[in-house]
Amino acid sequence: MFEVPRPSVAVTGGDELFPVHRIYCIGHNYAAHVRELGGNPDRQQPLWFMKPADAIVASGSSIAYPTRTADLHHEIELVVAIGQTAVNVSVEEASDCIFGYAVGIDLTRRDLQAEAKKGGRPWDTAKGFDHSAPIGAIHEVGRVGHPSAGRIWLAVNDELRQEADLDEMIWRVPEAIADLSTLFALMPGDLIYTGTPAGVGPLEHGDTIKGGIDGLGEIALTINPL
Ligand code: MN
Repeated sequence: MFEVPRPSVAVTGGDELFPVHRIYCIGHNYAAHVRELGGNPDRQQPLWFMKPADAIVASGSSIAYPTRTADLHHEIELVVAIGQTAVNVSVEEASDCIFGYAVGIDLTRRDLQAEAKKGGRPWDTAKGFDHSAPIGAIHEVGRVGHPSAGRIWLAVNDELRQEADLDEMIWRVPEAIADLSTLFALMPGDLIYTGTPAGVGPLEHGDTIKGGIDGLGEIALTINPL
């Protein structure tokens, strides 16, 4: 009938692309970030939401400032790339399904999210909009192992905004995967954005964003000037 492009992500050290199936995201996964948004970081159930697969944006891209928001926020995150089916897996088994890791940004319409929270409404328009999932190249587990600690940071126009360590996560990657695998059948091509540390804040037209995670390289993004 017609061709629909399949979103994909670069993989370091090769020409092959990682085809994206689904994008899952966890909210409230660093205590200091939960507190900065006025929440209580007590460990409850993980908070899951999704973005469409074609929200992917390659590192180095420039995107338009999204419509219907006046408060676009950056959230730097460790992204897990799934390479094998995982259904109802234990924490001990959870890492076996991981293909690799990348640096990502969960772009958020914070004003729409605040309205949604207040009204008890879904987060889709706040989180799952076009171009809301920038991501750097995926580093395969065989090259980088399973990073559970290390610096995660983001700078806007060379000013450091977010800086933390992966070991501050409330739900560790295997725990998050085990929980998610009881809700959905995880499939090759799935990406999991694992939550952001404190320091989120607004982006403006013309901003240059850089971020990184120890061992996983950097991500770069520009918001188009007015
Ligand atoms: Mn996030």
